[in-house]
Amino acid sequence: MDVQDPRLRSLLRQANKVADAGKRAAAEQLYRQLLEEGPEVAEAWYGLGQVVNDVAEQKAAYQRALALKPDYAAAARSLAELRGEPVPEWAEAAEMDEEEDEPEEETAVPQPEPETPVHTAVPAAEVEEYELVCYRHPKRPTSLRCYNCNKPICSSCAIKTPVGYSCPDCIREKEDIFFNARPIDYIIAPAIGLVLSLVAGYLVSRFSLGGGFFTYIIMFFVGGIVGRFIGQLSKQAIGRRRGRYLPQVMVLMLILGTAVWLMPYILLGGFGSLILFLGPGIFLFVAGGALYSYMK
Ligand SMILES: [Zn+2]
Ligand SMILES: [Zn+2]
Repeated sequence: MDVQDPRLRSLLRQANKVADAGKRAAAEQLYRQLLEEGPEVAEAWYGLGQVVNDVAEQKAAYQRALALKPDYAAAARSLAELRGEPVPEWAEAAEMDEEEDEPEEETAVPQPEPETPVHTAVPAAEVEEYELVCYRHPKRPTSLRCYNCNKPICSSCAIKTPVGYSCPDCIREKEDIFFNARPIDYIIAPAIGLVLSLVAGYLVSRFSLGGGFFTYIIMFFVGGIVGRFIGQLSKQAIGRRRGRYLPQVMVLMLILGTAVWLMPYILLGGFGSLILFLGPGIFLFVAGGALYSYMK
């Protein structure tokens, strides 16, 4: 590796690591990102050739690598193999040396700098890590990487998950699989929810308005049952698909369906005697919570 820019060098090392781990798509992305900044890095063209699937692209990448570095043995070999030609002798011989070169450079990197107090605060290995930059913010150095695709991410892009930090792309990909509701489901489920809520809301407003302590206890249990029931029915109707905003929409329907019946009382007496609405309030609170968690 004779890449001068330390940032590109670090990117290259990382891309190679990802490629070695067999994550071809992620490696391809890293090589391309690297080549955008440093199209003169022959090693990156070679690496790209190793991870793309299209044969024409592989060829083109190796040719670019060789154009930049005519004595690039590994690229010459790969290109020859791709074309079904014999590997040039010079390449066979040179490749032996190349392989010996690499570990030498790795061990040469962590040289401690004795007389510079600024640098001693940070271990050499860490400095190396910070040469990475966020793939969405090329100006932000970072040491974080997405656990899933291994791309470097800055702390404001990283999303903490139970298994590690993830990049927004991977999160979205997972969510798209998770939230599988069709647009029509956003009509079906809320419609069912509204009808059921209107019925429940009517009964609740009829029997619990101005009720006493015993009513509150009943509303507490009824709320849990009704919320779950509405969730069950509407979820069944949409084939148990999940929607990102469905829980919120369903709770809104519940509030609407109940509030309609309370409106006359509110309009007539206002919230003047709040205690009057305590029964329906408990119902809404418990049912809303049950519905929300069921829809999630
Ligand atoms: Zn990712
Ligand atoms: Zn970022």
